[in-house]
Amino acid sequence: MEARAPKLLVVDLDGTSLGGGYVPYSRFPDHYSRFLDQLHEQGCQWAVNTTWSAQGQLDLVKASAVKSSPCFLMAELGMRLWRLDGGRLEAVQPYNERNERAAAENNRRSFLKFISECMEAAPPASMNFYGHWFDMSCAPEDELAFKSFIAAVDWKARGIKKYSSSGCRLTAVHDFMGKDKSLREALAISGIAPLETVVAGDEEADIAMMAPGLSAFGICPSNAAEGVKRAVEKRRGIAGTKSHSDGVIEAFKKLSLREGWGFKLD
Ligand SMILES: [Mg+2]
Repeated sequence: MEARAPKLLVVDLDGTSLGGGYVPYSRFPDHYSRFLDQLHEQGCQWAVNTTWSAQGQLDLVKASAVKSSPCFLMAELGMRLWRLDGGRLEAVQPYNERNERAAAENNRRSFLKFISECMEAAPPASMNFYGHWFDMSCAPEDELAFKSFIAAVDWKARGIKKYSSSGCRLTAVHDFMGKDKSLREALAISGIAPLETVVAGDEEADIAMMAPGLSAFGICPSNAAEGVKRAVEKRRGIAGTKSHSDGVIEAFKKLSLREGWGFKLD
């Protein structure tokens, strides 16, 4: 299976495109904007896939020096998918409506009850629920009780999955969500083949985009989670030795050189 020169680079934001000391955080570093523009000029479009909302992504793009536009804004961990039409956000339907219906159904069936149970297990010190994304922290004295509640949850039966949990904090989402879902839809409607797609990520949630049916290669910066580095290397992608945006550019350049894609990048 030979990978063709990519027509699409999908990038995660936090820890991948952003971070590493570049300020302000809510803006692509200028050299990263230039990297995306150079790819775009040479026939490789770019897209974002993140937990952020589409509006947050658009604000970031507008605040950045990047001249090209993302061909897709994959938002809220696969919950919603957007395109830009003359600089304005356009929802991809029926993808978004379908997910919104599924979220409402699962909230009624299971998720709201799960949230009540979390609150009973450990009084929340802080809590957010966006209809698809639940985030709760308890006080330190309730950490053990909260952890034992979390350990006993039958996630599958509840139609919910743990996005992350550590210490006093839990983040959970609907189990139909995932970065793979929005990427699959984006590829289907754009006609871009998985073999023409490269993805860049740093967290466990990004591994879903690195499946053979979705991308030819994954790349990651040095700060990526160990599981991500393993997933990248398993499919002959490249893990950068530099962190964050620097590591993404480094990994992409090495991959381009190795695969003979011929991209001319700074
Ligand atoms: Mg990330």
